[in-house]
Amino acid sequence: MAHITTEAIVLKSIRWGESDRIVTFFSYKVGKVRGIAREARKMKNRFGGALEPFTSVNLTLFDKRSDNLASITAINIVDNFSGLREDLGRISAASRMVSLVEAITADRDPSHKLFFILREGLQALVESEDQSLTTLIFQIHVLTYTGFRPQFDHCASCGKDFGAWLPRFSPSAGGLLCQGCNQASWDYCLEMSPGSVAFVQQTRRMKFSVALRLKAEGHMRRELEDIIDTYARAVVGKRLPAIDFLAAESLPVYGMANKNSVVEKA
Ligand SMILES: [Zn+2]
Repeated sequence: MAHITTEAIVLKSIRWGESDRIVTFFSYKVGKVRGIAREARKMKNRFGGALEPFTSVNLTLFDKRSDNLASITAINIVDNFSGLREDLGRISAASRMVSLVEAITADRDPSHKLFFILREGLQALVESEDQSLTTLIFQIHVLTYTGFRPQFDHCASCGKDFGAWLPRFSPSAGGLLCQGCNQASWDYCLEMSPGSVAFVQQTRRMKFSVALRLKAEGHMRRELEDIIDTYARAVVGKRLPAIDFLAAESLPVYGMANKNSVVEKA
């Protein structure tokens, strides 16, 4: 039994039983962790808007069970990133960010770097005029720092150089394939131009906050979004919320207007 006090970001919140909620956080100290908020769905509850996804909080959990589900004993909002909830483009981009972090991380495996990238990513979305580009750069950094760094320097399967062949990206191999491995691959491989490879390499050499200033447009932008989306889906084993809200029929419905509304899947 132990108390844990930490900064955290709310990833998702689901109804539980008659009046409770189970909330998944990505925290600074213990990584992804789930906590139960008792009586969170009563009209008068002590949580206010602190359980809404994308909210940055100070959190105290009490671990008392063996199933990894802690009790939320105290929670205060540090920043609710209210600008994120003002339009659907920002909501869908933020929901993709938290969904990727939720899907890609193991329980209680802390990464301070990932915590800061998530917090900075949500903060950047509040101001961003191009939310899909902000999200693309976020995804490149998250994949890099969670051990799914795509391999571009040599063939991801056999390790050989590419020679004159223009390599193709294999989501299952996690990188570019040489001609021989591409022909032998059962996977659907995507074309990846040298410009797109250079963009990803430059992005991950930079600090996240600096990389957010990069621009990608036209064909290269579409190619990168396609590759990163396909790769992220291969890594997490499921579809992530689409960035383009109009194309996102299965996007979770997020509460916008009501301060005390708590977001959950429809
Ligand atoms: Zn090869």
